[in-house]
Amino acid sequence: MTTAHKVLPGPRAKELIARDAAVISPSYTRGYPLVMARGKGARVWDVDGNEFIDFTTGIAVTATGHAHPAVVQAIKDQADKFIHMSGTDFYYEPQIEMAERLASIAPFGGDDAMVFFCNSGAEAIEAAAKLARYYTERGRFIAFLRGFHGRTMGALSFTASKYIQREDFFPLVPGITHVPYPNTYRPVINPDGYADYGERIVDYIEKEIFQTIVPAKEVAGILVEPIQGEGGYVVPPDGFLPALRRLCDKYSILLIVDEVQTGMGRTGKWWAVNHWDVQPDIVCSAKGIASGMPLGAIIARKNIMKTWAPGAHASTFGGNPVSCAAGIATFDLLKNGLIDNAAAMGEYMMGRLREIQERHPSIGQVRGKGLMIGVEFVKDRETREYAADLRNAIVDCAFEESLLILGCGTSTIRLIPPLNVDRETIDEALVRFEHAITRAEETTL
Ligand code: PLP
Repeated sequence: MTTAHKVLPGPRAKELIARDAAVISPSYTRGYPLVMARGKGARVWDVDGNEFIDFTTGIAVTATGHAHPAVVQAIKDQADKFIHMSGTDFYYEPQIEMAERLASIAPFGGDDAMVFFCNSGAEAIEAAAKLARYYTERGRFIAFLRGFHGRTMGALSFTASKYIQREDFFPLVPGITHVPYPNTYRPVINPDGYADYGERIVDYIEKEIFQTIVPAKEVAGILVEPIQGEGGYVVPPDGFLPALRRLCDKYSILLIVDEVQTGMGRTGKWWAVNHWDVQPDIVCSAKGIASGMPLGAIIARKNIMKTWAPGAHASTFGGNPVSCAAGIATFDLLKNGLIDNAAAMGEYMMGRLREIQERHPSIGQVRGKGLMIGVEFVKDRETREYAADLRNAIVDCAFEESLLILGCGTSTIRLIPPLNVDRETIDEALVRFEHAITRAEETTL
């Protein structure tokens, strides 16, 4: 059954989009014409007064919802005192306090952690790669196909998500070898003989890659998303990350986890690696850690970060005091209930999505952890052929149904509400989601 839906964009949005087209880079990937005016919690209003439920959270950034009063107050209070003083040259309390909080949740133990601040996910990857080279005095890395780590030259060299992101930017940083990520729904290496496809992939690194093109003793680090994000919200099998840890230990390689999208409560635990009790050497974080203020960080074992000499790496804006104030407020909200809420609401939403899956054969798989949930669409459940056109049509229809969602991978939709979302909002959003699926199926299949 389909319902009446909005005709978008409205007049004011149209006018602004025309102005935008004249002056803003065409490299941005605007899927549908939302022109935001304001947001509150899980709701967004556009410039024509239309209301939407936001299950994009600005690509997993507004973890505490739009304009959470505690975060807004922290920003205002800090802005009243001072907005900037470069943390690379001077000291200030918000940066120290935020670092203490991040260290306290380091997945390898709080007493053993040090923090470096930057402004974004890509910068966190740059910092981690530089630190790994510096500490190990080795030049090579292993990364994963369909991984996404950002778009600066260094981060882009690790990114292997969609070729449009790399096309015409050659040469990139050398020495990074990509191997398949253990996607059990779409295995690309024969899993026969292995109980766990993740262990199969790690064996492939050791027995093929390390024996043929990459000497293990030259590898500084293995960079991995504990759950692949932009690549399709792919949850690896349970054996994968523990096996990677063992491989790293065997060859004195650093295990670097990119928790930019999975991190800080999104999956129902502080870090996604916590789900597998794996202790990495360096954690990269950004996106949701300051509820929308730009902040990135790497958290590394002390013996590793301590080797950096003054001047080895720094950033003018990294650890900006207003961003850190927002980060502290965010951290406290996460600690005092939002992570638990993410776990509970994630389970609830996953259950509701599986009910929807029963009514729609075009849904091949529902997967995720906490409030990081992917719904993969297929042309046929047997062949698992990608249904990219259908996925794109659903995203567009959802917009008309007043639900903001984003795609990822080839034919997956990601659902990433704020971590304080409630059941009622999930129910309302999923009714809209199913209407969008039904309408898109009618026109696309
Ligand atoms: N790493 C992951 C896992 C990401 O999802 C992203 C962004 O989507 C990045 C790194 C890059 O972050 P940024 O866009 O802040 O540079």
